[in-house]
Amino acid sequence: MAQVSDQEILEALKGVRDPDRDADIVNLGMVSGLAVKDGNVAFAIEVDPERGDRLEPVRKAAEDAVMGLAGVVSVSAVLTAERPPGPAPQSPPGQAARPAPAPAAGAEPEAQKPLVPGVDAIIAVASGKGGVGKSTVAVNLALGMAAAGHKIGVLDADIYGPSMPRMMGISGRPASPDGKVLIPMENYGVKCMSIGFLVAEDTPMIWRGPMVMGALQQMLRDVKWGELDVLVVDMPPGTGDAQLTMAQSVPLAGAILVSTPQDIALLDARRGLNMFQRVNVPILGIIENMSYFNCPNCGHRTEIFSHGGARAEAEKLGVDFLGEVPLDVAIRETSDGGRPIVVSDPESDNAKRFRAIADKVWDLLAARKTGAGKAPPRIVIQ
Ligand code: ADP
Repeated sequence: MAQVSDQEILEALKGVRDPDRDADIVNLGMVSGLAVKDGNVAFAIEVDPERGDRLEPVRKAAEDAVMGLAGVVSVSAVLTAERPPGPAPQSPPGQAARPAPAPAAGAEPEAQKPLVPGVDAIIAVASGKGGVGKSTVAVNLALGMAAAGHKIGVLDADIYGPSMPRMMGISGRPASPDGKVLIPMENYGVKCMSIGFLVAEDTPMIWRGPMVMGALQQMLRDVKWGELDVLVVDMPPGTGDAQLTMAQSVPLAGAILVSTPQDIALLDARRGLNMFQRVNVPILGIIENMSYFNCPNCGHRTEIFSHGGARAEAEKLGVDFLGEVPLDVAIRETSDGGRPIVVSDPESDNAKRFRAIADKVWDLLAARKTGAGKAPPRIVIQ
């Protein structure tokens, strides 16, 4: 089924008018936070707080308009009202993070970056698109670094599909003894924070730019991370505005791109590289996931068409190739079952691969810290 485009959705929404103002909701700038995933569409309609009660028919009409488009499976539209300016109130534990003020246009990214005391380095694990195993790699990478004796945390910034609670095998809600700061959850010796701990799994979440910033900053600043060598941030897939906002708002020591070999030209990965370049985040390297196939029955290795594309591309782009991870049912079952392979089968080849990648990342970070790292490459989009 053809993917519905943002443009088609916005065109459909232009047919919905604001009854109080003689124009449609798109041209009035009321639609925001449009997110489309596998035909599931979500967006927010911003209204004045005092009109919220009366505009339910507009919300419904907007949902119906989008639902009528080919390729749409579900639509969630919510009415939102911008919080009046003022000091940001603390979210009590158990509630989703609240929106924070948007960054001033043209502000230097540095000025927005929250400080996370006690955390030595924050690294992002990103991908050009979803489903490439970014979260799986992020969690095994974090556990691999922890296995080497380092103090590690994982921040699940994949606000559209938080998977860390499941992959880390953690349930429940983080405690907040003082009502201000959240204590991160912990398993396998790794601290973990995810929006998934704060809202129910089936709650549709609508994120606007300022909210993304607010949620992320809260998970950095209002969480008692303690002393960490590395905080691994599992980014949302893709290279859109939300991702750029995050790359900009977190003081990142470096970024890792996860890619599959199928897409030999790795255009998506290249976009990812380009995004981090734009905000001056050094690229630590590329990991090829689902690189080749390990047959679950006989253990036989089968090459996948275009295996090695990521390595070749990394070389071409002048960034480090950090390693390849096979498509292996054991990786899937363990990470989806909350016992990632690095901890559940540490002597397996796959666990060793992840640990080797983790060591490489650690060495790169150490080299950068001492100034021995190379200058960031220049990315050319062809
Ligand atoms: P992303 O974060 O890129 O959306 P996930 O990490 O959630 O992707 O992975 C998507 C699915 O693919 C999950 O079910 C995961 O267990 C599986 N998966 C990821 N990497 C591998 C791998 N190397 N071998 C087998 N399955 C994998």
